[in-house]
Amino acid sequence: MSRKGILFVISGPSGVGKGTIKDLLLSRLTDVRLSISATTRPPREGEVAGRDYFFLDSQEFSAMINRGEFLEYAQVYTNMYGTPKRYVQDKLSQGYDVLLEIDIQGAMQVKTKMPQGVFIFIEPPSIDELAFRLSSRGKDSQESIAARLAASHAEMESLKYYDYVVVNDNLEDAVNKVHSIIIAERCRVKNN
Ligand code: 5GP
Repeated sequence: MSRKGILFVISGPSGVGKGTIKDLLLSRLTDVRLSISATTRPPREGEVAGRDYFFLDSQEFSAMINRGEFLEYAQVYTNMYGTPKRYVQDKLSQGYDVLLEIDIQGAMQVKTKMPQGVFIFIEPPSIDELAFRLSSRGKDSQESIAARLAASHAEMESLKYYDYVVVNDNLEDAVNKVHSIIIAERCRVKNN
């Protein structure tokens, strides 16, 4: 029986640790295909074009929007991020499960277009913990941290559109839970 892949969307407030969860999951689930996003953000130290992101300038990003090449795109703080549509469609129709790790605005767009996807919300243990994580990873300015924290309050409102919520209070537990969700969804018979 030919099987169409399942789309898994991991999302949640910035700084919640969803990138780390995604990396650990992919090391366990080598048959899942990760969608590489496009962004106008400059690369951080150690990031590789085509592996971490497709790094584009604003003109290139706008051209992709105009050609309808994104499944979703959103401005996250000061930069644009988007999921190229083609890769996701191709891999799903080839029978691969596809993982997106994107912000909440983007996840809501995907939910409208592909409601059959599995939407997993990664929740921080508390706003205080989120503030602590954002400052201790040392990647963001104070202004950017304040903006991310303000956004995260509003983002919690979108929790109701998700299929699952996983609190990231312990990284290994959180990865185990998301892994279990993926295994369970692969065994699912009923879609209701
Ligand atoms: P960062 O700049 O730290 O890599 O990512 C910032 C935020 O953008 C994170 O919340 C990340 O999940 C989100 N993000 C990454 N790729 C995409 C994408 O393709 N679309 C959307 N909407 N958000 C993305």
